[in-house]
Amino acid sequence: RVKEKWAVTRTKHPPTSLALQHFDATHSVQLGPLWPSVRAALLSEKKYGALLNNFSYDVVLADLEAQGCRDFLRDADTEVSAAQPFLEQESEVVGDEESSGVSISKKSGIDGQQLSPLHLSPHIKCLVFPRGDITRFKPARPDMCGLLGYYLMDAASLLPCLALDVQEGHNVLDLCAAPGGKTLALLQTQSIGYLCVNDASVSRTLRLRKVLNSYVPKPLLADEKLRITSFDGTIWGDIERNTFDRVLIDVPCTTDRHSLMEDDNNIFSKSRTGERRKLPQLQLELLMAGIEATCPSGEILYSTCTLSQIQNQSVVEQAIVLARENHGIQLQVVDLRPLTHMFRKTFHFAPDLHLGEMVIPHLAANFGPIYMCKLRRLT
Ligand code: SAM
Repeated sequence: RVKEKWAVTRTKHPPTSLALQHFDATHSVQLGPLWPSVRAALLSEKKYGALLNNFSYDVVLADLEAQGCRDFLRDADTEVSAAQPFLEQESEVVGDEESSGVSISKKSGIDGQQLSPLHLSPHIKCLVFPRGDITRFKPARPDMCGLLGYYLMDAASLLPCLALDVQEGHNVLDLCAAPGGKTLALLQTQSIGYLCVNDASVSRTLRLRKVLNSYVPKPLLADEKLRITSFDGTIWGDIERNTFDRVLIDVPCTTDRHSLMEDDNNIFSKSRTGERRKLPQLQLELLMAGIEATCPSGEILYSTCTLSQIQNQSVVEQAIVLARENHGIQLQVVDLRPLTHMFRKTFHFAPDLHLGEMVIPHLAANFGPIYMCKLRRLT
């Protein structure tokens, strides 16, 4: 009987199939010979990382290590640092005024360029099972104060937070924050002076509040430290301009993995076609708002969980041109290759991206996709 009902109610083209058709057409062109293996990984169970909660009384690190996990941050490949400890390299951004094109060249960073240090917070710890080990984490348990010991997330989602490089006392904006994984990671650094957390969705903002209450002691969530809002992020530039030292813009996207695995709440459902087609424009508006909200010399991190070039590099390219032409803001692309080099044993990165970096799913290390691009405001 159950089977019969399923046969009647099942749509002929479920959103997951439409998503696969779409990705086969687009991602295969972009990724070429890499696509079949990335596709297989995307269609397989994803791997989690356990972000340790420094605010919990329970010491879970030893327990997780005994299960065979390792903190991928402490395991980083720092070979490159023999000459340049944790260096962040900067790319040259060349805006072609006539065609409004942007060309970005990644330089080695060794030949006389200005280099700035990338500090990995010693407080962030994220445990993962080794390559090829698909053991699942047990759900975290509350300590005597009710705080949970770890937060399960795609370990690659931590990279945008690390790349943002929050420093002591920084004023930080997390523009599209719910359900709050990256907010929680930023709070773990214990460096933030003031944090603004925003998400346009009221219901998702409620979820974010619940997450923060389950992991962070109440005094750290007080009004003088943190503000939670549910504004449309695209108008942030009108609310607070030239304000934040660091801005994270983790935009809504086609969430490739979810779109291939879950028919519920799927952006490839027929009823959401319009919304899906408008995503690159929304992403551009959010990035522009984030750029305006950043103070001169402040830094912006744009991230998505899609492999789509149209939602990734193209959005950043357009934002660089628009910022210059419409707002007189000069931006510099920060080269994140030292970060990818450090974590190349844990994640697979797309080779030769001309702008930004991307974790691509792999069966032995099934994290991502996560795209990230870092910009610095020069003016
Ligand atoms: N950063 C989150 C995390 O790590 O848990 C995930 C963010 S999710 C990829 C994108 C979020 O953008 C969604 O929660 C969605 O509600 C929010 N969003 C969509 N449109 C928005 C807008 N115009 N302004 C602000 N947030 C928006």
